[in-house]
Amino acid sequence: MTAPHRDIILVDVLSGDAPRVADGSAPFLYPDDLGAVRGDGVFETLLIRDGHACNVARHEDRFLSSADMLQLPAPDLDRWREASALAVAEWNDGAIDGDASMRWVYSRGRESTGLPTGYIMVTPAAGVAAARERGVRVMLAERGFELDLGNRAPWALIGAKTLSYAANMAALRHAKEHGFDDVIFTSAEGNLLEGPTSTIILVRGRRLLTPNPGEGVLPGTTQAALFDLAAEKGWECVPSQLTPEDLRTADAVWLVSSVRIAVRVTSLDGEELPAPGPEAEAEFRELCDEALAR
Ligand code: PLP
Repeated sequence: MTAPHRDIILVDVLSGDAPRVADGSAPFLYPDDLGAVRGDGVFETLLIRDGHACNVARHEDRFLSSADMLQLPAPDLDRWREASALAVAEWNDGAIDGDASMRWVYSRGRESTGLPTGYIMVTPAAGVAAARERGVRVMLAERGFELDLGNRAPWALIGAKTLSYAANMAALRHAKEHGFDDVIFTSAEGNLLEGPTSTIILVRGRRLLTPNPGEGVLPGTTQAALFDLAAEKGWECVPSQLTPEDLRTADAVWLVSSVRIAVRVTSLDGEELPAPGPEAEAEFRELCDEALAR
């Protein structure tokens, strides 16, 4: 038997009159929770850095929109904010150095009661510093649907951050079995989509490009924060339809997400991609850090 995870901070958001800190080393979900048995729910993963949660408003907006797409009762943001403050305070009390990951999980709840389940979980962001340093070797992988599937089939829940990540995790395992670290999904037409847990950003001169947010992909909160700040600093920020060839001709390719923040794609299907110079790399990373800090 493995030892219980004592690192998990848990806040029960919905079961009582008010959010309360719960025992993260004890069982929490009921066996008939539809989040567990069907992946029927939504989540957000936020970065905790320097004692506070980052990019919160964008995460809240996406949380509301994901819940709406799944026809879940609209989350009571005041309650989630209170719970989040409790979780962050617990994390800060632990005085552990480094970044942490804070997950907000909201499921359709127990099959037997119909009452939604909500909890917040904080864990140290282990291993991210090394991933940021090393970068990732990426393989392209078909996702098997066209860019406009979300319009034709709202039940596909394109653009919602649902708990159903088994296919994304399977793609990552497949990549790892074949000597890669990460994946870039492509659409049926061959356009770039996203990583299993990240948004693609291309740098070309003073331009930043990304696949159109919401077109076959989850709109990324990190990408949105980055584009807003970069535009203020004079970068041209262009959501577009992109192809694998665009990856090969970019000055640099990055995968961005809330906790890893930015990892550079060092190779694509085994072919080395150009590395930016140290100054360009530092500038991009600073832009991401600053975008998340404000
Ligand atoms: N796309 C997918 C499928 C993701 O799971 C994530 C994050 O986990 C992202 C993109 C990046 O989103 P964010 O920057 O909001 O973390």
